Amino acid sequence: MKSFEAVTHYFNQAADQLELTDNMRTLLLTSKREVQVQIAVEMDNGELQTLIGYRVQHDNSRGPMKGGLRFHHEVDLDEVRSLASLMTWKTAVVNIPYGGAKGGVAVKVRGLSSRELERITRKFIDEIHDVIGPDTDIPAPDMGTNAEVMAWIMNQHNKYHGFNPGVVTGKPVEHYGIPGREEATGRGVGLLTIKTLSRLGRKPQNTRVAIQGFGNVGTHTAKFLHEAECKVVAISDVSGAYFRQGGINVGEALRYSNEHERSLAGFPDADKITNEQLLELDVELLIPAALGGVITAENAPRIRAPIIVEAANAPMRPEADDLLYQQGTVILPDILANAGGVTVSYFEWVQNRQYYQWSLDRVRQELDRVLSSAFEEVWSLSQEKKISLRTAAFIVGIGRVGRATVLGGIT
Ligand code: GLU
Repeated sequence: MKSFEAVTHYFNQAADQLELTDNMRTLLLTSKREVQVQIAVEMDNGELQTLIGYRVQHDNSRGPMKGGLRFHHEVDLDEVRSLASLMTWKTAVVNIPYGGAKGGVAVKVRGLSSRELERITRKFIDEIHDVIGPDTDIPAPDMGTNAEVMAWIMNQHNKYHGFNPGVVTGKPVEHYGIPGREEATGRGVGLLTIKTLSRLGRKPQNTRVAIQGFGNVGTHTAKFLHEAECKVVAISDVSGAYFRQGGINVGEALRYSNEHERSLAGFPDADKITNEQLLELDVELLIPAALGGVITAENAPRIRAPIIVEAANAPMRPEADDLLYQQGTVILPDILANAGGVTVSYFEWVQNRQYYQWSLDRVRQELDRVLSSAFEEVWSLSQEKKISLRTAAFIVGIGRVGRATVLGGIT
């Protein structure tokens, strides 16, 4: 099943409950606009490389479209389309006034110089500057992009359209960004994980956690859960996975990775296992925080964690989701679990529009408030209707988007 088909599958499970007509389903699922561009860039060695970039704008019935920009070699239109659709449901679940979009450039980031990355970013914005903007579509960081890339986007866009920092979020804090944006996705995952544990009557101290991925989301999630007294027994990155029965010292791991070009390769005091083995560990909590599609029909029967929190976007294939749900696994879905990032992006955009700087305390407080109320709503709906948290989250999201579509007038 391809990525967009997978989101459609989840959407339809909720649409069945809502008894949506076929026409309404088509309307809500179809992207408003899909842009594909060619980016010709000169590399540092003088060679010319042709890259393909995408921006998919899925829905704007609730506000300007919002979503990250991904630089990764596996990016393709189907994936970007599915992630754009997920953004629509995500912004609706947490009830921030946005629609959904996503962008991507198919490029292998590892090994690129900073200058090359900057040229790719600026060239991409040259091609899409007319379709993005603070009131139309606002990019943000995603896999392979960061605050520096966002600053280049702002600068390049502003050359065409004049000064306006609200065209992009996730910018450096000292350059129109907001304190707490970088930690926001991982912090949100952490906050909601603790809430889930408490609803299930589990104590953090008795919870062993395996986290796949040690990038922005994985590291902040690990830090938060470690501080909340969960026992993080396994972490991983592209170099492999690292397991320690007695618990990994997350602070040490962060220091190690920072000192080794953001790689855990050679991390001492832990057994080296594979990323696949990490998913199958005997733990209470599994958090995929890296690539999409890592939990499949093939490995799902071997997954032992009774709770899975989706920090990555679309880490689970629908066949695996069905299987695990039937066996009683509690799955906190991506569109709720990792919505902390876009929520703080929204705060950044509000701040940019007001030329007013929020404090970190205020950001954290408001993030907690937004995520907690979304969590309450999704949790109680799933209890009341005896449906999965994923279907409940989609029902909340689709309900809001559907109502906005009808209120705005369809014809
Ligand atoms: N890329 C993040 C996501 O998938 C954040 C998007 C944003 O802040 O707009 O949710």
